[in-house]
Amino acid sequence: MSALSFSQLPLPASLLACLTSLEYHQMTAVQAQSLPAILDGKDVIAQAKTGSGKTAAFALGLLAKLDVKRFRIQSLILCPTRELAEQVAAETRKLARHIHNIKVLTLCGGVPTRSQIVSLEHGAHIIVGTPGRVLDHLQQQRLDLTHLTTLVLDEADRMLEMGFADTLNAILADIPSARQTLLFSATFDHAVRQIAAGIMQTPVTITVESGHSQTSIEQYFYQLDGLSRADAVNLLLHQFRPVSTVVFCNTKRETQQLADTLQHQGISVIALHGDLEQREREHALLKFSNNSVSVLVATDVAARGLDIDKLDLVINYQLAHDVATHIHRIGRTGRAGHSGIACSLLSPDDGHKLSALASELGDEITAEPLPAHTALGQKLAEPAMQTLQIDGGKKHKLRPGDIVGALTAGQQLTFADIGKIQVLDTVAFVAVSRKQAKLALALLNEGKMKGKKYRVWRL
Ligand code: ADP
Ligand code: MG
Repeated sequence: MSALSFSQLPLPASLLACLTSLEYHQMTAVQAQSLPAILDGKDVIAQAKTGSGKTAAFALGLLAKLDVKRFRIQSLILCPTRELAEQVAAETRKLARHIHNIKVLTLCGGVPTRSQIVSLEHGAHIIVGTPGRVLDHLQQQRLDLTHLTTLVLDEADRMLEMGFADTLNAILADIPSARQTLLFSATFDHAVRQIAAGIMQTPVTITVESGHSQTSIEQYFYQLDGLSRADAVNLLLHQFRPVSTVVFCNTKRETQQLADTLQHQGISVIALHGDLEQREREHALLKFSNNSVSVLVATDVAARGLDIDKLDLVINYQLAHDVATHIHRIGRTGRAGHSGIACSLLSPDDGHKLSALASELGDEITAEPLPAHTALGQKLAEPAMQTLQIDGGKKHKLRPGDIVGALTAGQQLTFADIGKIQVLDTVAFVAVSRKQAKLALALLNEGKMKGKKYRVWRL
């Protein structure tokens, strides 16, 4: 029996037999790390990359403790989209195939409510659904979750990204608090940590790093050799061809000037500093974090609210005033197992700062010449997404699901074309793939949401 064999777990014989017939011979890393705690009844937060077998980890957990004879809803699994919910339901049914008379029901948006009501009247053990539709049924008292023992949030990061935070909180307020809660996510940013803190009881947290476990940041220090700083930034963008970059400046004025210059050079860029109005700052963060803008030029103070999981490149337009700020700046790249690059543009009088940094890093710092200008010949890629603004929000009872529904109803767009969704009080924002932005704009402007027309435009 290997260390990764399922048979060492306290699983019912029927499930072990099923795993053998499915040819699941060994646990994956996330299963090996999370299943002992899950089967022990603990709340578990698990972070692991896509395709690592998270579904089986929670499905085995809830199937192991399910009482089939008790025909009540005992588990609720929430997923961000209908496609994902259907995949999870399929995998759960597959793992449950040796358990007789078990009923797994999906409740997703985009499907007529009527048929779901009939299915609910027939009863189920496990519900797999999207937050909006589950809340609808719950509020209409068609869904009895009073016997719930396990709640699973699958792809929690994606659910929050799609703007489901309020919907999740409304569901959570309405279900038994004495339950086991399992939270699965590919990333683990501030928003995920925050929701976890509110709904879980002394959770066991496990993280399965992808590939090499250390986050790696490559640092480069460049001499300007007579080039202007703005041109040096332009050159580095062409050299490294990052998807997302933050350039740190030491002053607000420098920040705005650099953003203006880069914009002039045809780069997708936005400025973030304290002289902007609150709304301008919010729009800048929104567009950068949903991949509608490639480069963010920011001061240290303004960038504090920035919580981005995948940043390919950090450029220090000037070296930071102190070592701690430098480390904080460059630590924004190379997160969550991704590799990152940090470039610093040096000034002739940076000698002091450099030796302080070198002793902190425990390494010598060698300044190098900027890369050759040949890279400038190639055009930079446009950002993947574009942000659309909708003149309706929570006050109009708009929900993320309504926006997703309006975009995907005609099947011209798929979930893959839709990025971050934010529904605020009177406005909402949705990121759509740039290639489909025109179509998305037409669909939203011509279609109705909650029976009403809204004005939509590119932000
Ligand atoms: P995730 O949710 O982490 O993205 P999934 O749960 O969708 O990943 O699993 C990815 C694939 O791996 C699925 O096709 C699943 O059937 C398969 N799988 C899961 N666990 C095992 C295992 N222990 N052995 C073999 N295949 C597995
Ligand atoms: Mg999954």
